[in-house]
Amino acid sequence: MFIKEIAASLYPWDLADEGIETIADNLVNRSNVNSIYLVGVMHFEKRPLTSLFYTHNSKRKYYLPENSRVYYRLDLNNFKNTRLKPLFSERDFLKDTDWLDVLISEARKRKLKAGVELSHTIFDTNVAYREYPDILQRNINGDIIQAPQGIVCPNHPDVREYQRIMFYDTVKNHDVDFIQTCLLTFASGGSVKAPWFFAEWMDVNRTYLGPLMGIANGGCFCDRCRDKAKELGYDWELIVRDMSKLYRVANATPYRFQEELMENNLTLGSNLTESMLLIEYPGLLQFLKFRIDSVTELFKDIYEGIKEANSSVEFRYNNHVRYPEFEGISFKDIAPYVDSVRDSDYSEQIGAPDKFVYKRNTILKIRRGISFDKNIIAAIAVRPNATPELIKESIKVLSTLGIDGLSLGHYDGSHFEHLDAVAQGMKEANITIVD
Ligand SMILES: [Zn+2]
Repeated sequence: MFIKEIAASLYPWDLADEGIETIADNLVNRSNVNSIYLVGVMHFEKRPLTSLFYTHNSKRKYYLPENSRVYYRLDLNNFKNTRLKPLFSERDFLKDTDWLDVLISEARKRKLKAGVELSHTIFDTNVAYREYPDILQRNINGDIIQAPQGIVCPNHPDVREYQRIMFYDTVKNHDVDFIQTCLLTFASGGSVKAPWFFAEWMDVNRTYLGPLMGIANGGCFCDRCRDKAKELGYDWELIVRDMSKLYRVANATPYRFQEELMENNLTLGSNLTESMLLIEYPGLLQFLKFRIDSVTELFKDIYEGIKEANSSVEFRYNNHVRYPEFEGISFKDIAPYVDSVRDSDYSEQIGAPDKFVYKRNTILKIRRGISFDKNIIAAIAVRPNATPELIKESIKVLSTLGIDGLSLGHYDGSHFEHLDAVAQGMKEANITIVD
């Protein structure tokens, strides 16, 4: 089969420590990489994420990034009318260098595609929690979700404008071929687990019902969302009524919301379908649709900003959630506003216990949504716990799924035999790169 791209992500500190030339040599020679991108805004997350230590970084054993700092220059004039301003790295070895330009100039030299990723949270949520709590998502009780950091609300005008400008300005001032994001949208609330008194024979690990009920713990119920929902014609009173009721059912224990405990047990412990939950709670369905409308509008704003800055730059959504529609993402709705989707399934690093069923189904779900004129880039984990055999097997499976590219996750924690397995797997699966 033919694909267009093999991408690899890099962090600014990888570039500072290992040097972009060494890294590019490794990726091009070992994995046929023809596309490199900088994670140019990164949240706090210990690196490497899935192993204790770096295996090919001679400068340090691990790294703890600052929260949501920007590692390249921006034109601050573009932010003069917004309350939220980008924050840059304060670390001596990183500040004062435009790491995106460092990556781009190496990519140009080698005729590689060059990109940038704006990761989950592009504004420091610790700063938001302290200084701008009004921009954070609220749960049904009005409390900040995921305190003490929180997650910003895409319906807040200041957040929306800040996000739009971040994408616009990045593209306007850098010669990138694509801009990618795995932006956090609406807090899903997690999956409701069956906490109490289930008989052993009860089928309580319900794939979809638990996460669907969990939305009652998610967001957002802030005033901006209320106003927006009403403006779009949603019945906010119905939404609040049904989500409050579902919240009590979802969180019932023998000691809290006691009167809902049996309902919780009989909902999660029976073979009730998700459809029935949506029939019984029409406000839940409205809430799901309202969030999809909100996120679609956000994508439209971001996409139009990117194209205004440079119409040839590709916008790539990096899917990172199991149930996108539970966080406001509908692939059919965002399809007009993305050029490609990367799916960040990393089954390889957990030993692919399901033989890549989840990976396969997710790729098909995305294809169903974005159709055939947009590209799908499938991730492969080259991190510890994967094996060369698993990586090759994964590539073989992916070669049957009509993908348009591969994307390695992530170079910083990779083992070289895993990078080598990418090129070997491509050869065995008869995958050729075409432009
Ligand atoms: Zn909100």
